[in-house]
Amino acid sequence: MRMSKLFVQTLREFPADAEVISHKMLARAGYIRKLTSGVYNYLPLMWRVLKKIENIVREEMDAAGAQELLMPFVQPKELWEESGRWDAYGKELMRLKDRHDRVMCLGPTHEEIITAIARDGLKSYKQMPVNLYQIQSKFRDEVRPRYGLLRGREFIMKDAYSFDTSEEGLDKEYQNMARAYKRIFDRCGLDTKMVQSDSGAIGGSVSHEFMVITDTDAGENDVFYCECGYAANSNHAVSKLPAAVVDGKDYFTETKIIDTPNTHSIEELSKFLNIPSTLILKSLVYIVDKKPVIALIRADRAVEETKLMNAAGGNDIRIASSAEIAELMTEHGFDAVPGFIGPKGMKNIPIIADETVREMKNFVVGINQTDKHQVGTNLSDLGVENLQYADIRLVEAGDFCPECGKPLKVTKGIEVGNIFKLGTKYSKPMNAVYLDQNGKSHPYIMGCYGIGISRTAAAAVEAHYDEHGIKWPISIAPYHVVIVPVNIQDKLQMETAEKMYEELKKAGVEVVLDDRDERAGVKFKDADLIGFPYRVTVGKTITEGFVEYKTRETGEVETVKPEVAVEHLIEIVKKIK
Ligand code: ATP
Ligand code: MG
Repeated sequence: MRMSKLFVQTLREFPADAEVISHKMLARAGYIRKLTSGVYNYLPLMWRVLKKIENIVREEMDAAGAQELLMPFVQPKELWEESGRWDAYGKELMRLKDRHDRVMCLGPTHEEIITAIARDGLKSYKQMPVNLYQIQSKFRDEVRPRYGLLRGREFIMKDAYSFDTSEEGLDKEYQNMARAYKRIFDRCGLDTKMVQSDSGAIGGSVSHEFMVITDTDAGENDVFYCECGYAANSNHAVSKLPAAVVDGKDYFTETKIIDTPNTHSIEELSKFLNIPSTLILKSLVYIVDKKPVIALIRADRAVEETKLMNAAGGNDIRIASSAEIAELMTEHGFDAVPGFIGPKGMKNIPIIADETVREMKNFVVGINQTDKHQVGTNLSDLGVENLQYADIRLVEAGDFCPECGKPLKVTKGIEVGNIFKLGTKYSKPMNAVYLDQNGKSHPYIMGCYGIGISRTAAAAVEAHYDEHGIKWPISIAPYHVVIVPVNIQDKLQMETAEKMYEELKKAGVEVVLDDRDERAGVKFKDADLIGFPYRVTVGKTITEGFVEYKTRETGEVETVKPEVAVEHLIEIVKKIK
């Protein structure tokens, strides 16, 4: 490709709405253009990157025994009603009507469609196991589309679905996919961690996410990990706690209600009483699936909302507003303000206590009276109904590994893929069954396996860049090398560049010849910004028979003969897997 013909417009500045590196770089280097919120045009350079990622994914999925198909992007409401997700999915599901008033949606994922396909054609145990996948655009009306391709509304995903007759079969395929994912991300030049993650309220399910570890702002997930190999998303991580004072017997000799004026926060209360916060029971009101739930936790710790939501058996969670708390108080005949709320006297409302609460003795708790607390108390003194214990605690760095006991470390991660044991979550409600050896019917045991193709491309930029631009791993770079003649009017420079260009093309190296009549500085800047893994500069030294060979990743520059550069590049490209 000649740069003069390549459809790319680099920008002088980063776009104003870009917050993270990959969005800034991809927009400025001319890879993407925003069409509307969370929806992007993939321009030719971007499309080349995406196709390379797709091809790696395709090769590895095929090698792992999966079969590619393509399902429609528009889906009918009826199938979503069968699975029960038409109501459960919420506003991310983009719903629309056709001219006959038939209600449809844009596919955010394809469990319903694939289950219906299986139901039609997968009738016997003899046809299983089978794993079907597609690579396609998805649409999710995300609340906060942001970070460019990392969290778009329209994005490209690989989604695979497996069908088995047993849990053992599913487990085997799950491991098979985990291995395929590792190979895929390795080949994309991405260092990933496979971490345990939340799999929703349905008990028994297992899921893992593949995280690109990053120190940029784009990491939306906290990952806790240990050198022993334990790694989990914060929404699923568990830990052992450092020792703490959890019995207040040295502070309180009797159980009583005392005045604690203006102690609205835990800090104020622990200062006022001169006690460690580990002796305070914190009570928080959440709204889970539109209904209030009270969470109890040792006050030095925070609640992990996903864990709480799962413990409450819900699909949606948020902290209650002060108006909602006031309403709850009125309903129970109290008028306490936040800071003084507690489980005492709260009827007909689920109360979920974190495991940390079990060990607390002679502690301090709000009793729904403003400016008062009960001290030296125990849960049994409070007459709490509907109490349930669960691990709803957010793990913190410095907690200990649940497996080996060493201190856990924390880092940020971008989720590029996940694997999920679905079991019969879809096959059961959709009555999608096969016949076993004895002619008895059973729902399929399913798994699903996603990879964000467009997110993977953006994550690669988050992991490989410097202040000058992108540093693509060679396996997914739009082109392998750019040849830059410093002065296109110089006959020898141009002839050498053209000759190398032709030789490289012939050998299958993806090469751009920067034949623009621009200053060398401009061409170098664009080359760095676009992120070609290699740059060959043909300048004055060509009179002595040398060109400059630069590796983008390391910045290393070598002076070599043109034929050596060509040979080198051919070798490198041969080695790409
Ligand atoms: P997230 O928690 O980041 O929203 P998810 O759990 O909703 O992801 P899945 O529904 O399992 O993800 O989708 C599979 C993959 O698709 C994810 O691992 C991610 O790489 C990608 N993906 C999901 N949502 C988006 C999005 N809005 N934009 C780009 N890629 C996405
Ligand atoms: Mg999501």
